[in-house]
Amino acid sequence: MPAAYTSQTCSTCGHRDPRSRNGVVFTCTSCGHLDHADTNAALNILNAAGLGRVRTWSPAPVGCEASTTRRAA
Ligand SMILES: [Zn+2]
Repeated sequence: MPAAYTSQTCSTCGHRDPRSRNGVVFTCTSCGHLDHADTNAALNILNAAGLGRVRTWSPAPVGCEASTTRRAA
């Protein structure tokens, strides 16, 4: 993804529209995602780099399900 479009692209659905960007506010014209324009752009850059989970950053190791195996039956 060209860096020039990160401020016009929705970090949630990937829709790109210059109208989504309104000053410092980003409101996706497709899915309605609302975010700070800089935050949205940063998320797009991270998504492009394959690191798009910054919003709910949790270093949970892949394959570790220790916290979800509480099932008394
Ligand atoms: Zn969207």
